[in-house]
Amino acid sequence: MSTLIRINTKKKKIVSSDLPDDYAGLGGRALTSRVVRREVPPTCHPLSAQNKLVIAPGLLTGTTAANTGRLSVGGKSPLTGTIKESNAGGSFSQKLAKLDITGIIIEDKPEPGTPFQVLVIDKLGTRFDQMPELDGLGTYETSAKLFEKYGSKVGIMVIGPAGENTRLASSIQFTDPKGNPSRAAGRGGLGALMGSKKIKAIVVDAEGSKAPEPVDKEAFKAAAKRWAEILVKHPVTGQGLPSFGTSILINVINEAGTLPTKNFREGRFDKAAEIGGEKMVELINKRKGVAKEGCHAGCIIQCSQKYCDEKGEYLTSGFEYETVWAFGSNLLISNLDDIAQLDRLCDDLGLDTIETGTTIAMAMEAGIVPWGDGPGAIELLKRVYDPKDYLGAIIGNGTSFTAEAFGVDRVPVVKKQSLPAYDPRAAKGVGVTYATSPMGADHTAGYAICQNILKVGGDIDPLGKEGNVEVSKNLQIATAAVDATGFCLFVAFAVLDTDDALDTIAKLISSRYGIEFTADDIGKTGIEILKDEFSFNRDAGFTAVHDQLPDFFLNEFFPPHNQLWDFSVEEMQKAKVEI
Ligand code: SF4
Repeated sequence: MSTLIRINTKKKKIVSSDLPDDYAGLGGRALTSRVVRREVPPTCHPLSAQNKLVIAPGLLTGTTAANTGRLSVGGKSPLTGTIKESNAGGSFSQKLAKLDITGIIIEDKPEPGTPFQVLVIDKLGTRFDQMPELDGLGTYETSAKLFEKYGSKVGIMVIGPAGENTRLASSIQFTDPKGNPSRAAGRGGLGALMGSKKIKAIVVDAEGSKAPEPVDKEAFKAAAKRWAEILVKHPVTGQGLPSFGTSILINVINEAGTLPTKNFREGRFDKAAEIGGEKMVELINKRKGVAKEGCHAGCIIQCSQKYCDEKGEYLTSGFEYETVWAFGSNLLISNLDDIAQLDRLCDDLGLDTIETGTTIAMAMEAGIVPWGDGPGAIELLKRVYDPKDYLGAIIGNGTSFTAEAFGVDRVPVVKKQSLPAYDPRAAKGVGVTYATSPMGADHTAGYAICQNILKVGGDIDPLGKEGNVEVSKNLQIATAAVDATGFCLFVAFAVLDTDDALDTIAKLISSRYGIEFTADDIGKTGIEILKDEFSFNRDAGFTAVHDQLPDFFLNEFFPPHNQLWDFSVEEMQKAKVEI
């Protein structure tokens, strides 16, 4: 048995049932995108009663297989207007899996003026709770109060002031094993969707419950053992990420000349070494932080960390490459402590760090804050806490909105979602992904940096055209499938380089559920997910015209490679699965 919980936020009605046949066999992104495709009218307003917030652990979440604790959150994106799946770590997903919960669908919309609610899920069922004292609080204080009330072992999914005020760049935060709400379903403004349903937090208490055992225990055990070997043996998942976290990429991408600097003006930052992973680990060790942590139990890569301030006090964790870039070279800020404070503020406000970094770049373009001014950026961001602060409201609404507010025309977005930390002119495979993904600009939707720069899973010229559309398409399919399983996307480094990795994943799924599932079925899963997503977007009014990068990438040469973006919309259509 596996359970689907439907929660009507207007009628306060909660229905738990077996997963209906229509959704059988789906997990993670496969389930969230199928529910959104079937149940959400594509042209609805994302903050209306017709939109739904869908939450789903991956197919393998709750098992002993390494790195399978991820969660998918889906809906129609308030930021982009497209379908959205945002993926997060933290302890929440595994606790849902322990209760044998396959999905949660939050629907309808309370009357205006309705107070925020807390949803509590445990082995006895699901209920609404009132905690008006949480209104307006950041996610750190909210989580502390929820742990105090419900016990230290619960998992928490929470929005901050940004989500409460339905700001378009809002994230949903999740507590990690240490209780810090530092893991984010960041992209696409899903925090605003949760805020529109008047849900401040969801608490899951799985004490006394045990996730269902695999149907074929011995086969699962053998596959899980081989899976762990694959991850440990690969140099990226076994050494690079565990030693320096994802920020190891700062110096690598800078060296490759594709680290976007000063709002995508050039590909090298002269102070990259001051913000890179090596520097971060040096400071962590000096301040008695922790250089290596998992965002959920059973992660053996452990790219997260505990980053402390100069006094040795905890400041942030889940301090990732994308965040360091967004507030670092992108804004010409080279003080890692300032960047860490911006990360902490985003986690506490419940804001996507990538979107917020490029939003502050718009404010810098407009002269609101000088380039490179870390303390100025921090003060600007704090204004988002106040719901009545007009400047805070603009910043909380993301890059595209802020650019319009200030008349900025250098706006790095696709489908209103900001580009992440790789310039597409010097990494063209990932540029094709930015342009064509169903989610708007999103590196995780098809991470061709592997083949363009890192030379993992192939070697494709990042500056040429050949092979970059094909690699983006293949990665978009593979990524969608990974997001359905509950695997952390970073396993892809090892999967791309290991002959039996896909077979091993297939064995994990087939032995967990007692079904026939082959390596070919992984690709088929990815294609079905993308079909749901592209067809939703088509019916929401998106056409090929929306699949292009902003003008300045086509017209402005990018140093040091002096490249332009040179793919036409027509050429890139081949990167999308046909619907
Ligand atoms: S590798 Fe990093 S992101 Fe992935 S599960 Fe582990 S800590 Fe989380």
